[in-house]
Amino acid sequence: MRRGTNLPRMAGFNQTVILDVVRRADSGLTRAQLARRTGLSAQTVTNATRRLLEQGLVREEGEGSRLGPGRPGTLVHLDPRGRYAIGVHLDPATMTFVILDLAGNPVAESHLPVPRPDQPERVVEGIVGAIEGLVASAGIDRALLLGIGIASPGPIDVERGIVLDPPHLPGWDGVPLRDAVQAGTQLPVLLDKDTIAAASAHLWDPGVHRSSEFVFFYLGTGVAMSLVIRDEVVRGASGNAGEAGHFVVDPAGPLCECGKRGCLGAVLGEGILVQQGRAAGVPLPEAGDVVELDQAFTVLCAAADDGDARAVEVLETAGRRLGMGAVVVTDLGDLDTVIVGGPLWSRMERHAMPALEKLVASHRVPSSSHAVAVLGSPLGSLVGAVGAGRLVLGQAFTPRPSDLLLHA
Ligand SMILES: [Zn+2]
Repeated sequence: MRRGTNLPRMAGFNQTVILDVVRRADSGLTRAQLARRTGLSAQTVTNATRRLLEQGLVREEGEGSRLGPGRPGTLVHLDPRGRYAIGVHLDPATMTFVILDLAGNPVAESHLPVPRPDQPERVVEGIVGAIEGLVASAGIDRALLLGIGIASPGPIDVERGIVLDPPHLPGWDGVPLRDAVQAGTQLPVLLDKDTIAAASAHLWDPGVHRSSEFVFFYLGTGVAMSLVIRDEVVRGASGNAGEAGHFVVDPAGPLCECGKRGCLGAVLGEGILVQQGRAAGVPLPEAGDVVELDQAFTVLCAAADDGDARAVEVLETAGRRLGMGAVVVTDLGDLDTVIVGGPLWSRMERHAMPALEKLVASHRVPSSSHAVAVLGSPLGSLVGAVGAGRLVLGQAFTPRPSDLLLHA
């Protein structure tokens, strides 16, 4: 079980087992099929399904195919409108909010610049206000909200729900973000690292990645990654695994804060890319803070979209550098897929992806017998927020042995 969370239980143990099987079935299951797949008795399935229907978590529609004599049985489906989860992604420049239905699909979203990134209390107020506004405008009954997942830049203390001291959030040293948002919204909250949330977003829907062994690169204000091994996100000893920012990919590159040159985080930083674009002659606005810098990066990507060869070159080079970091990880873990996402990537993908794919495809080591697929995250800039919301749903769908004592 994951530590450091306080989300309420959605249903008892057997009900949760059934609910998770129903969720993974594309087109509904009969009670007989549910009994076979869960190993529960027919009577237990009937009772638990009745309770799920009463709670509005599943609905009945259509009939299963006839396998033998007798009636085929009604199909039980997840009711996507039965519950909702909120996902929040706190990036130093932008806050993203989504409401997910019970199937994990976004039904509402909003984006806001971070108000005074250096003042955590203002940011908390902004998060609480934005959540209340989104829930109201989407017309969702608060009673159906399971909770809020927040994806934050690391490092964080997952157990205590505290943002420790992220390099791009000055003044954030030991901010109890989870409890502050919980106090402001009166909803249960979990806090997780942005990359772990983003990688989890892809695990929710196996149709997206079709791989159990992949690396997810997150390009936001910093560069980070998450490794997924056997369908599990590698969390590390303190829940902060995935520090990829200091792989050296260009020994002659820009100086990194760690003292080395050409670290992945340095060459893919928004500041460096904007600086390179400006040095190459792309007309870009001056940037005094992270919000303006993000706007300048948008202008750089738009210039590339408009065919400015200098801007294209900057983004292509960034794609190649990312590829150099990616192959280190795919070799190390014998991975077969690289997924890239995050707020920077969704703007630069069109230009950086071909260079990234080419580098990964040309990298061959004798010990590896398989190709490595490279994918852009289909969740675009929503990936962190959707991942955070899916972590909330994931907990709701995970049967917990302690529930056996409560609901036996
Ligand atoms: Zn470095």
